[in-house]
Formats: sequence, structure tokens, C-alpha cells
Amino acid sequence: MCNWSLLFTMFRSLNTRLLISYILVILVCLTLVGMGLFLFVRASALWNRPTHQRLEEAERETMQLLLQGEPLRELTRDQVQGFLIQAATEHRVRILLLDNRGTVRFDTDGKWIGQDLQTLRPQPQNPPLQRSQGTFTAPDGRQWLFIAQVLPGIEGQRQTLVFTSRPIRLLALAWFADNLMRPLVQAGIIALVLSILLALLIRRSVSKPLKRVASAAEAIARGESGTRAPVSGPTEVRALARSFNQMADQVEAAQQSQRDFVANVSHELKTPLTSIQGFSQALLNGTAATPGSTARAARVIHTEADRMRRMVDELLTLARFDAGQMELAHASVEIGPLLQSCVEKLAPQARAAQVTLELDAPGQLTITGDADRLAQVFTNLLDNGVAHTPAGGKVTVAAHRAGETAVEVTVTDTGEGIPADELSRIFERFYQVDKARSRDRKRAHERGRGAGLGLAISKEIVEAHGGTVAAESVVGLGSKFSVRLPVKKEGW
Ligand code: ADP
Repeated sequence: MCNWSLLFTMFRSLNTRLLISYILVILVCLTLVGMGLFLFVRASALWNRPTHQRLEEAERETMQLLLQGEPLRELTRDQVQGFLIQAATEHRVRILLLDNRGTVRFDTDGKWIGQDLQTLRPQPQNPPLQRSQGTFTAPDGRQWLFIAQVLPGIEGQRQTLVFTSRPIRLLALAWFADNLMRPLVQAGIIALVLSILLALLIRRSVSKPLKRVASAAEAIARGESGTRAPVSGPTEVRALARSFNQMADQVEAAQQSQRDFVANVSHELKTPLTSIQGFSQALLNGTAATPGSTARAARVIHTEADRMRRMVDELLTLARFDAGQMELAHASVEIGPLLQSCVEKLAPQARAAQVTLELDAPGQLTITGDADRLAQVFTNLLDNGVAHTPAGGKVTVAAHRAGETAVEVTVTDTGEGIPADELSRIFERFYQVDKARSRDRKRAHERGRGAGLGLAISKEIVEAHGGTVAAESVVGLGSKFSVRLPVKKEGW
């Protein structure tokens, strides 16, 4: 059990996996090369040259042995067989003796005695052929290499002496084993050593940079923010390091925005709380004793408490959007009447600020959405427009169809405008353009200073309807907010 888990752990390492795959590739390659070479050897005559030489030598020496002493016809069968066994052992060949009908009379291996090997008998021709050579098919069905020699006569009979070795397939195999096996094994060993070196090299180039990414992750987990993985190694590891660094950037940005959020909320709550505390203290200890100062203290407490409530409402709305719990109605909304009611709501404020409010919306502009939430968006835009436009200025809200599938509502003012470098940030939570300016301008306003959440909420609402909101502005000339809403969001 323990050994298996050890083996499994080993196999999980990149090094072992690489090595095992290399070994498999080497084995497959060597086997394929070996098979190819074997087929080539069998098809060529490479393997039969040495065998043929051996058969020729055996033939020459046997003939010398047989013919050197007494005339052949006077040799006894036993003497001849003795010579043949001696020659066969010496030259590692097989010798057969065929009678004049082609039947095997003697076999140094003893297996084919009595078999008919007529084909090996040199054919009686004119002049009669004394010697022949080539391949023949034995009774076992296999192919053999042979040299046949006709003997004038042993014990008065004309006989054929056949020299053969082993079946061709075995000969080719033996030649292959003797001549090619060694270089193949050597090549395999060299490839193995090279593959081990290669695996080590790859390990250096892959697992080292991977380990550096892992160390960077551990460092960030320990709280060492600012740590980044070095982007090095192969493309995939570099891509991983880059993604990791991007993720680390995002995590840190998210942490920072969370910290900013808490700081902003505390700051925004602290100011009204301080006012409430101060004025309620004045009421309690009698500092605000006259009816006028009592009423003023009560008004400030009321206004500041109202501002806190609004901010908490706005935060709750944003939290619901963040949690995906904001449920929007999917009702038919007439844009014209909706804008009309928003303008009417803002009319007293505009009058007080001596700002003209204008509506330009054709009838029959209907979309699907949440009327209350959309009213919140346009009220906020109109409220901002009125708040940031000096007396004598104008705020216009206009609606028109934008293509077949969308409606665009624009809120344009002739106010102070927004500096270009701040324009991209006004939709961020708590972002306020030049806080002092906002405060002064809105202090004159009935509803008081906002917390910089209005546009962030408007953007969430518009995007939840599948739309977009954009701002253009020129300092000193005014601003234009464009809300583009699809007639019906996809999926609704
Ligand atoms: P707030 O509730 O504080 O007004 P918003 O999110 O509605 O916050 O607006 C963000 C900032 O954008 C504000 O601080 C304000 O200065 C600026 N702003 C918004 N609308 C306008 C406008 N029409 N003209 C000039 N400045 C604007």
C-alpha cells in the first residue's frame, strides 16, 4: 500500500512523468526501427552471405575428407556418416544424404530420415549437373538455404550430399541479433541518458519558474502584498505568471477599494453625526435656548439625520446589486410620462435655483423595465444638473429612439462642467468632483450634499436594464449625460 502511494507520488512529479514518457517514446522508436531493419534484412540477402560461406566451407572440407583416402565406393556407410557428423559439428551445419530417388538416408540432426526431398536432387541433365544451390521448402513448411553435391557413389550407389543450416527466418533473426541488436541497444542506452539530461533541463526550465509562482502565491497568502511572480520560463508558465500577477493586482485593488469603502462610509457618517451630536448637546445643555436657535438646531438635526438615512439607503441598494439580489420589475414603461414626473418633482428645486427645466420627449417611447428605478436614475441626473448649474442656466432632458431596439435619454445642463481628468471617475462609488465645490453648491440646495453614490447607483440600475450610461462635459459650458436603454433586455 505504502509502495503504491510512493510510486503514485513519484509519478506525479513532472520529472518522473517526463522520464517515463521519454522511455516509452524511446522504446516505441527502437521497436519500430528494429522491426523495419529486420524486414529489410530478411528481404535483402545480407544475412545469407555468411551462412552461404559457411555451407561452402563445410562442403569443401567434407568433399576433401570423403575424397582424400580410399575411393568413395569403398567407404562403408558408417565411415561416411562419421565424416559427415564430424564436418557438421565443426562447421555448425546440417548435412543430409539423399539416395538416388531423393529420399533422406542420413541426417546429422536425425529428424528427416525417410523424408522425400526429391527437389534437392540435381536434375539428370545433359551434361548431368553435379552441384546445385539455393533455397528449398522442407517437409516442415519452412524455407532453408542449401548446397547439394552429387557423389559418384557410396557403396556403389549414386547419392546426393546436402548442406544446409537453419530455417531462413531463424537465420535472418540470428543475423539480426548478432549484427544489429548491439547497436540498437547502445542507441537505446544513449537515448536514455540523453533523455534523463533533457528531463533535468526541462525540469529546470519548467518546474523552477512554476515553483517561483507558487512561492509568490504563498507570500501573498502570508500577507506580503506587492509580491509578484517573475515572468520567466516557457510560454505557458509565463502566461500563468502573468495571469497570477493580474489576479494579485485585482485582489489588491479589491482589498484597497474595500478599505477605501470603509474609510469613505465612516467619513461620510462622521460629519452628520458630529453635527447631530453638537446640536443635540446644545438643546440638552440649554445653549440653544431661544425659540429661533432651538428651531435651527432641530432643523440641522433633521437634515443631517435625513442625509444619513439617504446614504444608508443608497449603500443598501448598492449592496443588493453587489449580491445580485436586486430584483427589477419587467413592466412596460412609457418614457415620456416617466420623465415628465421626474421634471415635476425637480421643478421646485429648479425654481429656487433659478434654473430652467425643459423636457423634450415624443410620445410612444416604451421600454420594458422597472419604472421606479428608472425614475431614480433620471431624478438623480436632473438633480445633479440643477445642483451644478448657476442661476439663469438651463437643464434639458430629452428622449429619442436610438435605432430599432433602443431608446436614448439625455440630460444636458449649461452648468460648471466636469474637468476631463475627473470625468472617467464620476461613476465610482463615493467619488466627488472637487468636494469643496460640491459642498458649497449643494449646501444652497434643499436636499444637501450627497455622498458621491448617486451616479454609481444610476450606472448599476441602467446596466441591470442592459443599457449604458456615459458623460460628456466641457468645463464652464456644461455637461451631458446619455442613458441608452434597450427596448427590452435580452433574456427578459
Ligand atoms: P452626489 O450624490 O455627491 O452628487 P453623484 O454620484 O451623483 O454624487 O455625482 C458624483 C460627482 O459628479 C459629484 O461630486 C459632482 O461633483 C459631479 N457631477 C455629477 N453631475 C454633474 C453635473 N451635471 N455637472 C457637474 N458635476 C457633476
